[in-house]
Amino acid sequence: MRPIIIAANWKMNTTPSDAGPLASAIAAATATDDVVRVICPPYVCLAPVRDALAGTGIAVGAQDVHPLAAGAYTGEISAGMLTGLATWCIVGHSERRRDQHETDELVGRKLARCLESGLRPIWCVGEQLDEREAGRAEAVVREQVERGLVAGGMANGEWAGSVVIAYEPVWAIGTGRTARGADAAAMADAIRSALEANGWTRDAAATVPVLYGGSVTAASIGEFLAEPAIDGALVGGASLKPDEMAGIVARAATTAAARRAAAG
Ligand code: PEP
Repeated sequence: MRPIIIAANWKMNTTPSDAGPLASAIAAATATDDVVRVICPPYVCLAPVRDALAGTGIAVGAQDVHPLAAGAYTGEISAGMLTGLATWCIVGHSERRRDQHETDELVGRKLARCLESGLRPIWCVGEQLDEREAGRAEAVVREQVERGLVAGGMANGEWAGSVVIAYEPVWAIGTGRTARGADAAAMADAIRSALEANGWTRDAAATVPVLYGGSVTAASIGEFLAEPAIDGALVGGASLKPDEMAGIVARAATTAAARRAAAG
């Protein structure tokens, strides 16, 4: 059975002085063993968030990582620098694809770096609005998966069990507009089928948790978790609000219990 995962992407919000108290408030509002909870603050807030979350069961993630181990890359952060600070890492977020011009090839190299370094990647994929309107959403996302796998040398399923994929339609991120649950579930199926088409066994592809991301709130999470193909959410704006996180994680815990009961 795949875990239910709720990951918070704080983006470029919080400071080293307010991040710890916010993390503590979220921990207090979301206590459960049924849901894998991850908070991804800005780099400079990793240490205070790690300290605030000690003993809560919530993992800490970074929002990005450089594909190389070290070198003359001013302003960049390597996987090794994250040791002791983060155990997860968002890779290929659409805001970085847009603002830092990250390609699928670069994203694949970053995935490989995460996996080799013991960081659990949350690999973001998703189509633009014009691509969905042109009926090309699944083809675009399948291509992102394939190119990332090839660039990361991950086309043999070796990393099943470590990789998490977040389907984030770009037009739904930060817009207040969400995908339909059924469309997100169809994309989750397409993603697992793309893994299979690129060298993964059916069993390996089936172990990969697929999250939905895009304007998720406590009010909208239910539509996504009602889909068996969806295993949680990557949450941006709402993840800065403990009350919203409480509602999202509570709904996720209900889903986790129901799936466990159904699996016997
Ligand atoms: C995100 O940052 O991945 C995201 C989905 O943001 P939001 O929930 O604000 O749309």
